[in-house]
Amino acid sequence: MNDDSTKIGNAQIDSAQIYSPTPAHTIFDSYRASSVAAPVASTTIDHQPLTDGFSRRLTYLRLSITDFCNFRCEYCLPNGYQGKRPDDELSVPEIATLIRGFAQVGTKKVRITGGEPSIRRDVVEIIQTIKQTPGIETVAMTSNGYKLGKHLAKWQAAGLNQLNISMDSFDADTFYKMTGFNTLPQLLTDMDTLLQTTDIKLKINSVLMAETAFENLMDAIDYVKDRPVTYRFIEFMQTSDNSDLFFAQHAHSDTIIDYLTEHGWQPHVRGSSDGPAVEYSHPDYVGRIGMIAPYAAHFCDTCNRLRVSSQGKVHLCLFDQGNYDIRQHLQTGDVQGLVETLHSFMPIKPEHHHLHESNSGIMHNLSIIGG
Ligand code: SAM
Ligand code: SF4
Repeated sequence: MNDDSTKIGNAQIDSAQIYSPTPAHTIFDSYRASSVAAPVASTTIDHQPLTDGFSRRLTYLRLSITDFCNFRCEYCLPNGYQGKRPDDELSVPEIATLIRGFAQVGTKKVRITGGEPSIRRDVVEIIQTIKQTPGIETVAMTSNGYKLGKHLAKWQAAGLNQLNISMDSFDADTFYKMTGFNTLPQLLTDMDTLLQTTDIKLKINSVLMAETAFENLMDAIDYVKDRPVTYRFIEFMQTSDNSDLFFAQHAHSDTIIDYLTEHGWQPHVRGSSDGPAVEYSHPDYVGRIGMIAPYAAHFCDTCNRLRVSSQGKVHLCLFDQGNYDIRQHLQTGDVQGLVETLHSFMPIKPEHHHLHESNSGIMHNLSIIGG
């Protein structure tokens, strides 16, 4: 253990493991200076659910299995993936250890994300591994849908429960302009196949852009008329890689919400374990329209998640200033050590992000950790 290591609860954390502009001792000093109670001893925390310093229950893990992506979405990777794909992504045995640890501390739902998760050849094995972990109730994945048609049956057989597909437009030319791929017609066909042949719950994600918002909303309303699908707008989030486009295209969530409420759509009653997304339903429509509005007040109050990167770093908030390396636990199959380390993070999970101050922390683009 090096001399810079810091003791938090029962977890020894090396400052060298935290690659962050904020040195570890600063982070932990501020945690110590706050009035948040220190974690209790490991003998009493085992199997306790993760609850952070703001009484938020963390039952949802978003796991990135690669930061590589084949698409060039203009708001995310406008110039495509830069450099060589890393060769040290988490292995299936490491993922098995990770999920066992998270399941022990109350995680019920795991979302596989990226980059583009479907480019991993072992994605089916990863879905299976997560699904078979006792305590995990829901396995979800977020994908650009490029490989949907080819792999749908295998994903379903492996136990995938939910799939979120990113589809920013119903217009083929706009889709091409936004992603660099001319695959919208195939994607629409593949999503209908999913609806007709599987019980995988489908949601569609679309980044809210000023230029396309209204046309997209009209198309989405048509689309969900007879389909059991939620089409969700995500407010465009600023990162250091997309500032110019952000200032040109950012639109407020009210643009959509005002239209919906004026046309008979009602916010859906949300469960206590639901995250910050709000869904609107209408008696004449089978599907729903959703809104994820990270710039809205109190968005972070209902945060229920932790994120782990494809290199085994925990991100306590999407837009945090640093992250925390848990890979040693994963490499050695140390579930107990992982459980203790996860508990030790609870007092320092940030209350909210700082996007309003144009501060996206270390998140240059969302392919790093998957949104
Ligand atoms: N490649 C997969 C996909 O596109 O679905 C998973 C990773 S992607 C980073 C996850 C989600 O983040 C997508 O729905 C994408 O639209 C969204 N996203 C990416 N950059 C964003 C940004 N700057 N603002 C809002 N949403 C963003
Ligand atoms: Fe790739 Fe998803 Fe980012 Fe698009 S949003 S570039 S598909 S990671």
